[in-house]
Amino acid sequence: MAVAKELLAPCGLFCGVCSIRIAHVNNDAKFKEKLSGVYGVKPEDIQCEGCLSETPFLFCRSCPIKTCTQQKGYAGCHECADFPCVHIENFPFPIAKKVMLRAIPAWKELGTEKWVEAEYKRYSCPQCGSALFRGAQRCRSCKTEVHID
Ligand SMILES: [Zn+2]
Repeated sequence: MAVAKELLAPCGLFCGVCSIRIAHVNNDAKFKEKLSGVYGVKPEDIQCEGCLSETPFLFCRSCPIKTCTQQKGYAGCHECADFPCVHIENFPFPIAKKVMLRAIPAWKELGTEKWVEAEYKRYSCPQCGSALFRGAQRCRSCKTEVHID
């Protein structure tokens, strides 16, 4: 499976399963409204084309992890011997940090293509197979409760 490289956030928070990007791509006003409450931003700020695109989400525009990997010439923290470094440890969102600590070793182990496949699979409904997003608590198709990080 070919993956758009702008979706490969170096921190391991894969943009293909990010709620912000999904709400933006689907132009889903109701979902944007909900996410704006979760993230404390305006609904019109819920937009993103991917971490490495020209227009990442507000919080992802300036990111110490992204800056660090770019300075080191790495595609992601999975290439770095210092993982998990202070940039990960100090990341202000505990849930995101937890995902990074899970996802980066998996990325390192599987390589990009297989890892992306595994991330998509991880964030799909165990009941009906519908695509979910990171942080989803309920499948929007079959309404099954889900707990995935
Ligand atoms: Zn479902």
